[in-house]
Amino acid sequence: MRLFTTVAGLRCHLERIKVQGQPGEGKDDSAPDAPLSVGLVPTMGALHDGHLSLMRRARQENDVVVVSIFVNPLQFGPNEDFRRYPRSLEHDQALCEAVGVDVIFAPTAAEFYQAESYQDGGDSAAPQGSDSPTPDRITQVIPPAAMMTRLCGRTRPGHFQGVATVVTKLLNAVQPQRAYFGQKDAQQLAIIKRIAADLNLPVEICPCPIVREPSGLALSSRNQYLSDEERSQATALYRGLKQAERLFRQGVLDADRLISAVTAELAALPTLQIDYVELVHPTTLQPLDGVHEAGLLAIAAYVGSTRLIDNIVLRNRKPIIAIDGPAGAGKSTVVRQVAQQLGLLYLDTGAMYRAVTWLALEAGIALDDEAAIAELVSQCKIDISGLPTESSIAINDQDVTRAIR
Ligand code: AMP
Repeated sequence: MRLFTTVAGLRCHLERIKVQGQPGEGKDDSAPDAPLSVGLVPTMGALHDGHLSLMRRARQENDVVVVSIFVNPLQFGPNEDFRRYPRSLEHDQALCEAVGVDVIFAPTAAEFYQAESYQDGGDSAAPQGSDSPTPDRITQVIPPAAMMTRLCGRTRPGHFQGVATVVTKLLNAVQPQRAYFGQKDAQQLAIIKRIAADLNLPVEICPCPIVREPSGLALSSRNQYLSDEERSQATALYRGLKQAERLFRQGVLDADRLISAVTAELAALPTLQIDYVELVHPTTLQPLDGVHEAGLLAIAAYVGSTRLIDNIVLRNRKPIIAIDGPAGAGKSTVVRQVAQQLGLLYLDTGAMYRAVTWLALEAGIALDDEAAIAELVSQCKIDISGLPTESSIAINDQDVTRAIR
């Protein structure tokens, strides 16, 4: 495992290993000339099992795993815990090594933000407050305002701008194929997905489930601030969310009733002060009056002086079941029967490939012209409808059910 504190060192190392590969590292032998894939896990350190779950997943899915450890001053408000935030680089390094991380990127703020971004020129001996670059001297990424006005954005002005800026910088410095983020920070995840889409960043944003203590408390670096008593009170956050989930399973979809179920659970605890409990759309973060297809039920509360967040996603839709396996194994037969018995739509992905092939042939596109096919696919519309036994498929409003068979 290598540790870099500068973008120059990190870039040079990644360039070299992406092309040359590393003996023994899971490079795909079937494509010997393909560059190695890189997975990035951005963190602020003080690592725990939640972070490690992201790293393990990145390890499974990529040839090279890069973890960034950077307490980003830009995302902390003036009265927040930037100075106090737990820092434990040596311990973090050992944890990263144990899960097979290849590279840690741990720059100082003065290295990562250009010296010109500081009023004092980035002088490390400068007085308090100089860790943060001067906002009007730095290029920042501004996420859609509509995604920042609710939930944590209400009480943390500038926070998501700071997150968006640092994540974009990290993605540019590392240039990974995939980047891993926890569902624990649901608003951050939704905003980063949106930034990647809006800025056409060539990266797949991979969401990872929340890791919890057996008590239900979501793991967080800030849990270190809690006394034993506060820690036990903090478990009420998840209890409240679970209470709302139980109601939801019984058919309650109304936002007010679901929110009241959470607040009722927390009301009994005097040291716990609610910042917000909100139901929003998981992707757009717009408020919902009820769970139609899916709702993000999110909470932030102070336990003593520590601000904690948690959430669950409530889904009010039929399940999606994917079946994969080798050709000729009987996938279609099984899927058709499962769909029929459960009343689900049978989504025949094989038919989708055939329909696209039909379209490419119709358009006279050479079948080895990948770029032309990519352009064609990104603009086409496929409709699949009907019963599992007799579904019909249309591409760009032309019925091709018979043609593709
Ligand atoms: P942080 O160091 O708090 O900035 O977190 C780094 C990444 O780890 C973010 O994508 C978080 O959402 C994720 N993360 C933090 N806590 C957890 C958890 N309990 N379960 C899953 N992911 C987490």
